[in-house]
Order: sequence, then structure tokens, then C-alpha cells
Amino acid sequence: MSGFTAPHCGSLRAADVGNGVELYGWVAHRRDHGGLIFIDLRDRWGAVQVVFNTEVMPEAHRKASELRSEYVVRVKGEVTRRRTGSENPRMPTGEVEVAASELEVISAAKTPPFQIEDDVDADEALRLKYRYLDLRRPRMQQMLELRHKVVKVMHRYMDANEFIEVETPMLLKGTPEGSRDFIVPSRLHPGEFFALPQSPQQLKQLLMVAGIGRYYQIARCLRDEDLRADRVVEITQLDVEMSFCTEEDVFALIEGLWAKVWKELLAVDLPIPFPRIDMQECLLKYGTDKPDLRYDLEIADVTEALRQTESTVLRAPIEEGGVVRAVRFPDGHGLSRRELDELALMAKGAGAKGLAWIPGPLDKRMTEGERAAILSATKAGDGDLVLLVADRRRKAETVMGLLRREIARRRKLIRENEWRPLWVYPMYLFEEDDLGNLTYGHHPFTSPWPEDMDLIDTKPYQVRARAYDCVMNGVEIAGGSIRIHERGLQERVFEVLGLSKERIRSQFGHLLDAFEYGVPPHGGIASGIDRLMMVLAHTDNVRDVVPFPKTQSHQDLMLGAPSQVEPAQLEELHIQVVQPQKGTKTPS
Ligand code: ASP
Repeated sequence: MSGFTAPHCGSLRAADVGNGVELYGWVAHRRDHGGLIFIDLRDRWGAVQVVFNTEVMPEAHRKASELRSEYVVRVKGEVTRRRTGSENPRMPTGEVEVAASELEVISAAKTPPFQIEDDVDADEALRLKYRYLDLRRPRMQQMLELRHKVVKVMHRYMDANEFIEVETPMLLKGTPEGSRDFIVPSRLHPGEFFALPQSPQQLKQLLMVAGIGRYYQIARCLRDEDLRADRVVEITQLDVEMSFCTEEDVFALIEGLWAKVWKELLAVDLPIPFPRIDMQECLLKYGTDKPDLRYDLEIADVTEALRQTESTVLRAPIEEGGVVRAVRFPDGHGLSRRELDELALMAKGAGAKGLAWIPGPLDKRMTEGERAAILSATKAGDGDLVLLVADRRRKAETVMGLLRREIARRRKLIRENEWRPLWVYPMYLFEEDDLGNLTYGHHPFTSPWPEDMDLIDTKPYQVRARAYDCVMNGVEIAGGSIRIHERGLQERVFEVLGLSKERIRSQFGHLLDAFEYGVPPHGGIASGIDRLMMVLAHTDNVRDVVPFPKTQSHQDLMLGAPSQVEPAQLEELHIQVVQPQKGTKTPS
């Protein structure tokens, strides 16, 4: 034996053969072969096989015969080379095993509600209830480590670029980011409330007024989102702000960061600079502001070609100011009636009045010229089908975006190994909310595009914004803008958004006042780390990358939260709970 080391279970290798070791870990598996008992002992670094031989160490062997899965044990022994033929190439420790001389059971374990294994087929609710067991699975541990490494790269990179991390408070006043605020009652100021940050937006801008110049923070943000599969209420973001900068500075900074993250974590060289596309072209070509460029299908506008068409289904929406958009379905001639019905159902589900296709029933209402124009605009060839949607522009875009994705999925057109980042820039300053009212596109602090300033009152929806999103493989991984830094302009934007003078004063007075004390032009960006992790780890489920996630219905199944509180606590907070009446609609 050459000295004593206390390594991790999963880090033992052939070079350790001959070493005496003391290991701590969880029993992953036990195989009892009579005189020989084998266990796989697991810790965060992996697992190693430990052998108990009754002839050599009868006492340790006896104790090993009582071990069960997930017991926590201490093992002393010697690292030995496995017999030729019994190596396990699937385990990084597979060339060696530990011949145990001593065994101590530190903590016994009940049979876990599911196997602690990567491919466990357990109900998600059960996994979340026992998250501490779920997190024992090797894949989850790797995920936590990956997340740690990503954040580490961010810290190092931001520091190297002279950004300093500044903590901003959790108890704030509301900051609009498009969600509801979580609010916290103040015990000492009855009837008054703090808001938890939807983002540190206003504070980071105030830090620019304070002369910090380059700020970042790994910031926790809380957004009381409605129940939607792709929304989480608690997010962590890399939050960045800088002074005297333009869009170009922000792009260069973030491209450099992603290049580092992809290189260090995935050994991938991202092509820099990223391509850019403006929002209008993006919505037209891809039907979404988060296009996935790993497949080529582009949507075409065929409105002009069909303006005089005999087909009323297509002409009527055009006459009402709408558009007709078309996309190619490669080899779509062979689609069955059922498949076409599914696509039509999908289009209708997304709000379209209907779905048309050529060749198809509409052919007889179209001239040869119209057909030729559609085929050429969509680059459709022999055997391809073209899907058409005629509707209001926004609707047609959304539906086309969904169909484009569905076609790519069905035809397996997505080049899974590619990384295709892009910037969507410029974007629009305003958009329509679900009720048809004017609201901000990014947030109300975003600077309008200087040349579009005159349109603010007359054609607000056409006003572009100095806002940008960074999209990777169809997922928005960062978004930000150059900000307004003039009081007058900021007030004007608030007014266009329908805020009264009093509301502007009470909600944003501090920011407007600050703009009167020497304010540098500034801009920034934020990147949602949960989403970024999903992209890096190739998962669609945010709960795979968040250590202690909530369910889709915003509950913590492990802690049993939210939950009621003691009446005395409510009293102290001067709060009375009014339970919703039966049948009252709670927001969903
Ligand atoms: N505050 C924005 C957000 O959280 C990011 C930014 O504009 O910098 O999305």
C-alpha cells in the first residue's frame, strides 16, 4: 500500500490501484454471490464497485449482507484491478474495484419511492415530492454541476470585462416586465406592500445614473405568470447594464460570452458575429420572433399574387386588410386526408379560420398564374404541397410559425447537431395585448428607434425599438434594449401606454427625477439562465434544470407550498383572507 488517500467513489481510476482508501457514499446496488458481495457505492463523482469477501474479511462481509439500497456507508479498503474480463467499460471507474476491509453503516434508508437511476420511469409529481432523492440521480447531479459551471463562466467573463456585480434588493416597488408582481405585505406599514422584483430593471438603470458604468448580477426574478406550460414564476437571470454603449457593444459582449460558454462546456466554436434579422422580416419568414434556423423552410407572403383571386376564402381576408402566407410541405403530395385534417385542426386551434393547400380543392378557383406565383414564392417543387393561411397579419404569422415547426418535425428536417444563434433586431416598441390594447413590446424603458419618433402618436405599432433578442435554436436566451434616458421622452412613452400623470408620478417618479441629475445613455440585456440551461442540456422541461422547481400549477410539492398561515400571522400583517366564492373563476 502506498499511503492513504480519501478520494471520491467516482474518481477512482487504474492509477489508484494499490492505494488504501476510505470512501463515503450511498449504496446504489448490491449483488450477493454468497461468499462475495458486490455493491456499487455512489457519490456525486460517480460510482465504484466494492467487494466484500467472506474469506478475507468475514465481519465486513456479514454487515454487507444486510445492506440495502440508499444506505449511507463508510468503507475502508484497497483499490485493486478488476479481474481480466470483468471490467465495466460503461463505468469510468470500471477498471478497478475496492476490496473492502471495513464497513460502517452510517445511516439506513427506507426503500425509495422510485429507483435512483437516470432512466427512472417515475411520475413527475412523485419525483418533485421527493426532489432530494430525484437529485441523487447522476443526470440531475451533472445538471447541477453544469449549471454551476455556466454561472462560473459568466462571473469570470463579466469580471474580465470590468463589470462589477451589484446586489439589488428583493423588496421593491413594482417593475413592469409584462407579468404580475408578487407582493409582500409590510407589517410595519399597515396596508402597504412591497413588490418582489420581476427584474432589477429600474435599479440597474439607476446604477448607471450612479456612475457604475458596467453592472451585472446573477439576479433572482419573480413573475406571477398565468398557468402556461412554458412559464415559470421564479427565474434566475444574468442581468447586465452598461453606460455610453450602443447595441453593437451589447451584441459583442454577449456573443463573446456565449462563445466562451459553448466552448468551455460543450467544446463548440460558435460562429461570431451572429446573424441579425429585423422583427418584421423575422415574423414574415418564420412566423415567430424566436426562429429556429436549424431548418430552412421559409414562409412566403403571397398576398399580392392573390389579390384578384376567384377564391373568396383567400380574397375576403385580403379585402379586409389581411394577408395570405404560404409554406412548402416537402413531399406533401403523399399526405393522407387524416394528416391534412390534423394540420387544419392545428391551424384552427391557433385561431385560423381555416387552412388551404395546393394542389387541393382550391385549385379550380385559381388561375395558372396564381398557382405559379405561389409555387415560385415558396420554392415548391414536384411532389411538394403548399399550405396557405389567409387571415389578419398577426394571426397568419402565428399559425404559419406553428405549421412551419410542425412540418419540420414531421419531415425530420431539424439538424439536431447545429447551433444557430441570431439577433432579432430591431423589434417593435409597442404590441397589442390579449385584449387588443396597446402595451409595450419589451418594457416601457426601451428607447424608440430615432427615425420612427414621429409615428409614436399616429402609428404606434409601426414604431421600432432599440430592442434585441438573442435566439438560439428557436429559444430566446437573452433580451434587452438601449434605454430612454430623457425624462420628457420617458414621460411621453408612459402616456402613450395610457398611464395617468398621477400613476407616472407615484410609480416612476424616482426614475424620472434621477434623469434630471446627469444621466449617461445606457443599455443592457438579461439572459434567463433556466432557459439557457435547457438549450445547453437539450431538454424541453425546465424542471430538469432547476434544482427545486415548482409544478406547472405553481406549487412546491416537496415543501407543500403555498400553504395557509396562522391567523395570528395574518393579524400582524393586517390581512383578511376572503376565500373566492364557489364557482368564481380563479385566473388560470
Ligand atoms: N429587464 C429585462 C428583462 O428582464 C432585460 C433588459 O432589458 O435588460 O427581460
